[in-house]
Amino acid sequence: MNIELKKKVMVVGGGIAGLTAAWELSRMNIDVHIVEKTCFLGGHAIKLCCKATEECQQCGACSVEKMMKNVVNESGINIHLSTEIENINRNGNFKVSLNKGPEYIDSRLCTNCGACFEKCPEHGAIIQGFSKNNTPLYGIMEEKISLIKDFCKDICPEGAISLDKKGSSENLDVDAVIIATGFQPFDPEIEGTYGYNKFDNVISGMDLEESLRQNGCALKPSDGEKPEKVAFIQCVGSRDERLGNLWCSQVCCPYALRMAEVIKNKNPETEIFMFYMDIQNTGNSFPVFYEKCKSDMEFIRNIPIDIIPVENNRVKIRYLNDNDGSPLIEEFDLVVLSIGITPGEDSNKLSKIFDIALDEDGFISNGNKFNNSSTSSRGIFLAGTAGGPKNIADSMANAGQAVCEALNYLGGEEPIQ
Ligand code: SF4
Ligand code: SF4
Repeated sequence: MNIELKKKVMVVGGGIAGLTAAWELSRMNIDVHIVEKTCFLGGHAIKLCCKATEECQQCGACSVEKMMKNVVNESGINIHLSTEIENINRNGNFKVSLNKGPEYIDSRLCTNCGACFEKCPEHGAIIQGFSKNNTPLYGIMEEKISLIKDFCKDICPEGAISLDKKGSSENLDVDAVIIATGFQPFDPEIEGTYGYNKFDNVISGMDLEESLRQNGCALKPSDGEKPEKVAFIQCVGSRDERLGNLWCSQVCCPYALRMAEVIKNKNPETEIFMFYMDIQNTGNSFPVFYEKCKSDMEFIRNIPIDIIPVENNRVKIRYLNDNDGSPLIEEFDLVVLSIGITPGEDSNKLSKIFDIALDEDGFISNGNKFNNSSTSSRGIFLAGTAGGPKNIADSMANAGQAVCEALNYLGGEEPIQ
């Protein structure tokens, strides 16, 4: 496709779908603006660990880092961090008003030395990005500023921190918009019966990702030791009528199985139990992979009733025998809740600002059944998990599709009806 005038596209969201869309648009000589509301690019996908064992498990985690690197080094991509969309006016093209939060750490001065992060006395006041390609690598939490004001005055050797900074407004004129605002992981505290945040050794799949990423193995939060017996509970926050979340999140089975295989690979003696409803496909080599999983761990086709604490920070899972319904109890060192994908927290707000429809589950709706990435509003396209559950590879493919549809639109080609 040959677009003669240099067009501008705003990509809302800097996770893997937004990064991919921005990168592909920039390859087509489009002037791209990524608007990301947090102070870091990468979204949830950048937090995921590599799940290779003897061989690559095709989890896609490494592609996120590669895409981050592409985007931050591409001069045709303008990155607006800590920035939210205030409103949008349509008059031919889109006139967008942005609210940019204060830039407490000056990215031109910060050398990413980490002194502020390491020495900060207030836990969680200074946060670290998950990728070395985050610039700056550190951010300051607005709500903690009053607690660190005195400390921060002199801590930075480069003078990069200034807590008196104010936010600013900015306007953008763009020809098309790609919404890639991602998802919200299900909050496992809502599922009260499994004791998340009550029992030390009940963690979420995202917590396990972090442990594998940082330590290379699973550790019990209670004492930092390796667990001997681990349970995964699938479908936490998905396929659950009580919560009104009827959809399958599609990604939690593949991620849980791959993480379980990483644990087994590092510590073959670890016993692993998988409580599940159905196991979703992990990709092309699924039958072979699943057979290996079945030989490495025990599968129990049952979603547990609840979890009760016992001595030494161990927990008991209560569940029903699938054959005769009789109650069963099994004790574990560590329980991993495979939390699902829920609609992004800004979906409602974005739907009003952009005048786009949501589907019955609250994800942004694909407005044209023939064009997977078109929304109900012309010139506004949809990429990644903002439109529903997808893994990394599918989010990237979907972003590519959104770019194709946006280019058709910019080139004046009528969308397929
Ligand atoms: Fe950046 Fe200063 Fe923090 Fe070092 S101390 S990471 S230079 S803000
Ligand atoms: Fe449940 Fe697996 Fe679907 Fe996740 S992917 S909701 S764990 S069936």
